[in-house]
Amino acid sequence: MTAPLRSPAPHVVIVGGGGTGAALALDLVLRGLRVTLVERGEITSGTTGRHHGLLHSGARYAVNDAESAIECIEENQLLRRVAPGSFEENDGLFVGIDDEDMAYGEKLFAACGETGIPARWLSPAEALHLEPNLNPDLKGAIQVPDATFDAMRLPLRWFATAKAHGAVIQPFCEVTGMVVRNACVMGVRGRDHRTERDFEVGADLVVNAGGPWAEKIAAMAGVDVPIRPSPGVLLALRGRLCNMVVNRMHKSGDGDIVVPQRALSIVGTSSWVVNDPDDLGVPEDHVQKMYDEGSKIIPAVRSAPFRQAWSAARPLIGGPGGADTGRELSRTFKCFDHMERDGVDGFVTISGGKATTARAMAETTADVVCRKLGIDMPCLTRQTVLLPHTAYYAA
Ligand SMILES: Cc1cc2nc3c(=O)[nH]c(=O)nc-3n(C[C@H](O)[C@H](O)[C@H](O)COP(=O)(O)OP(=O)(O)OC[C@H]3O[C@@H](n4cnc5c(N)ncnc54)[C@H](O)[C@@H]3O)c2cc1C
Repeated sequence: MTAPLRSPAPHVVIVGGGGTGAALALDLVLRGLRVTLVERGEITSGTTGRHHGLLHSGARYAVNDAESAIECIEENQLLRRVAPGSFEENDGLFVGIDDEDMAYGEKLFAACGETGIPARWLSPAEALHLEPNLNPDLKGAIQVPDATFDAMRLPLRWFATAKAHGAVIQPFCEVTGMVVRNACVMGVRGRDHRTERDFEVGADLVVNAGGPWAEKIAAMAGVDVPIRPSPGVLLALRGRLCNMVVNRMHKSGDGDIVVPQRALSIVGTSSWVVNDPDDLGVPEDHVQKMYDEGSKIIPAVRSAPFRQAWSAARPLIGGPGGADTGRELSRTFKCFDHMERDGVDGFVTISGGKATTARAMAETTADVVCRKLGIDMPCLTRQTVLLPHTAYYAA
């Protein structure tokens, strides 16, 4: 695999083929740049291919993390327009089952108003009419515009549209080092696992979109980024126990969400912090917690047939120490220009955020990339309707 170091349009190499890298590849090619994206495994094989598939309304973050809540509701509304057909527009319920939940519900309802998230209170009878499998002792519920999507197919639409505009997508190409000269990143080198050959690609700028691996990738350029990989366990049960996204009406905690995905119900999630995103495991007590807590909002969780349990790591922003579980860390995102931060030019890192906010993360990053490369082109991903996911594999 080769790419010229210089040519009429600047060449950007993106490291990481999750949703963030996918949305960024599209944003940059629409602004006229040449893009090569390298991903060490199959595209979406990192955290992107392993989350709940919840299009956040932002309500989960409204009380404690308003910045992230606002990002989520803006993208929730925008993505429905540019990716029609990708979402099951099923809404979500926050369900209160004790007095403490109901007290939290008052704060949640007010915070939704402050962050622009449409919300309405439902009586127990109204909630049970919408979702008959809810805990029959519930005390009340709040309806919000959550939605669900296929975790892999939405990013595939960004990849497909980026490819149609000339982006080169290289799965199974693992970056193992950076080409650095005079404190400037000039490209990447690595191993193409399809051919078992080494490669080197020149670039005018390299973007690290490595999600929870971003710290490891940044270290190859001799810089540090404050990423805290924070895994969570997910449990898939056979049978669709609800049609809406069902959340417990309380501060974010273990096993407090049930997400319908096709004919499955996904119960999530736990949260802890690790140093190595390749070493997560699936702690048995976390799986048990999904059953115990999930069955408090939908009792049928307890007896639903087991399909699978797995874990994935959130790429949260926060240095070592100061975070015991990861729940204390914001879900917002940050773009690091390593020239401003570390004196290393030609290198930018994007991390944090949610799958829901991948497009916004890409827009912020592409603004930084274009400013650094002296390009004055507006973002077009707010209005560009995406190709279907099937177009990615079409010749
Ligand atoms: C348990 C859990 C549940 C979640 N649920 C939701 C949800 O329902 N809704 C939501 O909006 N968000 C959710 N999230 C958050 C969301 O999944 C992530 O924020 C998002 O997927 C991160 O995408 P990314 O592209 O930044 O990272 P990733 O998808 O991890 O992409 C980074 C990529 O970089 C690649 N890479 C690493 N090293 C190299 C290298 N050396 N060379 C080349 N490539 C490399 C990796 O293989 C990976 O594919 C959840 C997160 C977790 C952990």
